[in-house]
Amino acid sequence: MDEQVDVIVLGMGPGGEEVAGQAAAAGLSVVGIEERLLGGECPYFACVPTKMMVRGADLGNVADALDGIMNANAQLTTFHQTRLPTLTSGEAGRA
Ligand SMILES: Cc1cc2nc3c(=O)[nH]c(=O)nc-3n(C[C@H](O)[C@H](O)[C@H](O)COP(=O)(O)OP(=O)(O)OC[C@H]3O[C@@H](n4cnc5c(N)ncnc54)[C@H](O)[C@@H]3O)c2cc1C
Repeated sequence: MDEQVDVIVLGMGPGGEEVAGQAAAAGLSVVGIEERLLGGECPYFACVPTKMMVRGADLGNVADALDGIMNANAQLTTFHQTRLPTLTSGEAGRA
């Protein structure tokens, strides 16, 4: 290949992509070279997997909270169906 370019960017992680994009936007011809994975570490090992784990942990907390609410709701229902009538029947008798 015998072609001239203005800019060669080594590494196409977020940094390289930004530089390549800015250079191209300025009208320069750009070649990006990546030895491993386009996108760098962010989508494969860093930002994205970390966010997925954190979001998963958040959802686990929400599920625990919902579980607690369901248990409380079940206890309240039991109270309404069994204990409350015995308490209010006395009141009704006095009225
Ligand atoms: C656990 C973790 C979580 C993160 N979470 C976030 C987040 O939520 N938000 C955020 O903004 N940032 C986050 N980051 C930081 C983010 O991943 C980095 O700031 C970003 O990836 C850096 O980009 P970079 O292009 O400088 O380097 P890199 O992503 O490392 O990319 C460099 C690229 O250059 C290539 N390369 C290296 N040498 C050569 C060579 N000689 N020839 C050709 N290619 C080469 C490599 O293969 C690689 O693909 C996190 C980092 C980690 C570790």
